[in-house]
Amino acid sequence: MQETPELHDYIWHELNDRKAELALPGTEDFAGKGVPYSVTKMEKLSNDIMLLVLEPAGNEKIEYTAGKYISIEIPGTEGMTRDYSIGAAPKGDGKIELHIRHLRGGRFTTYVFEKMHEGEKLNLFGPFGHFKFHYEKDVPVIMAAVSTGLAPLKALLEEAFERKVRNPIKLYLCAHNADSFYGMEWLKQWKKEHPNFDYFISLSSPDPNTEWKGLIGRVHNVILDNEINLKGYDGYVAGSPKVIEAVVKSFKDLGMKEDRIFYDIAG
Ligand SMILES: Cc1cc2nc3c(=O)[nH]c(=O)nc-3n(C[C@H](O)[C@H](O)[C@H](O)COP(=O)(O)OP(=O)(O)OC[C@H]3O[C@@H](n4cnc5c(N)ncnc54)[C@H](O)[C@@H]3O)c2cc1C
Repeated sequence: MQETPELHDYIWHELNDRKAELALPGTEDFAGKGVPYSVTKMEKLSNDIMLLVLEPAGNEKIEYTAGKYISIEIPGTEGMTRDYSIGAAPKGDGKIELHIRHLRGGRFTTYVFEKMHEGEKLNLFGPFGHFKFHYEKDVPVIMAAVSTGLAPLKALLEEAFERKVRNPIKLYLCAHNADSFYGMEWLKQWKKEHPNFDYFISLSSPDPNTEWKGLIGRVHNVILDNEINLKGYDGYVAGSPKVIEAVVKSFKDLGMKEDRIFYDIAG
C-alpha cells in the first residue's frame, strides 16, 4: 500500500523530532546515557503480547502525559534503541506501562520474551510524540487500534475518564486472531463504569477451529461496515503506518474532517 504524503510527512517528523530532542549525532553517543528504570512486572497478555511495568531505578524519572512514547536502549548494545508507546495515563508514581508485541526474529522483542526478567535495569529516553486527547466538549469520538495500538489509546482513555469527559466514545479494536487479542478486562471495566463508552472487537484472520461470534475483518473495513456518517466526529487511530493510512481513509470517506483525525504509530 502506498503511503499518503501526509502520513509520510508525519513519520518523518516523528523520527526527526526524536533525533532533535536527543540532539545526538550517532547512536554510540547516547549508549548508557538514558534514565535508569527497573522492570517491576512482566505479564503475558496474549500469546504474543507482553505487559511490562517499569519503575525509576534512581532519583530521576521521565515525566510524561497520556499519548507519549519512550525509547529503550536494547540491553547489551551500544545505544541501539526501540520506541514504545506508554500504555497508561500517568498516576504520579513514576511507573511506565508498555505493551510489547513479539516479532519473531526481532532483536528487542525476542529479548523481552526470552531473556528479560523482573528486576532487570533498562535505559530509557523520552518522552516523545504529540499524540493527545483533544478535549472538545460533547464532540463524539471514534477510536481505532490494531494490536498494541491499544497502548496509547488506553492512556488517552484513562486520562479522559479520570477527567470525567461526557463525549460519546466508541473504540474499534482489531487483532489477527483470538490468541493475539488482549485488553478484554479493560474494555469490560470501562464499559461498565462509563455509559458514554462502547467498544467493538474484530478479528482479521480468526482461526477456523476456534469459535468466534464477533466481527470479522480489518479495522478500517469494520468501521466502513458499521458507521454511516462520521461528520462532526473526532477520530483517533493507533497502529502500524499501514493501519493508520487505511483507517484515516475510512474516516475521511465517512465524512470526518481531516484536521479532526489524530494518529500515532504504535507497532
Ligand atoms: C513511535 C513508535 C511507537 C511504537 N510503539 C510500540 C508499542 O507500543 N508496542 C510494540 O510492540 N511496538 C511498538 N513500536 C514498534 C517497536 O519500536 C519496534 O519496531 C518493534 O517492537 C520491533 O522491534 P525488534 O527489535 O523486536 O525488531 P527488529 O529487530 O527491529 O526487527 C524488525 C522486523 O524485522 C524482522 N527481522 C529482524 N531480523 C530478521 C531476520 N534476521 N530475518 C528476518 N526478519 C528479521 C523482525 O521479525 C521484525 O519483523 C513502536 C514504534 C514506533 C516508531
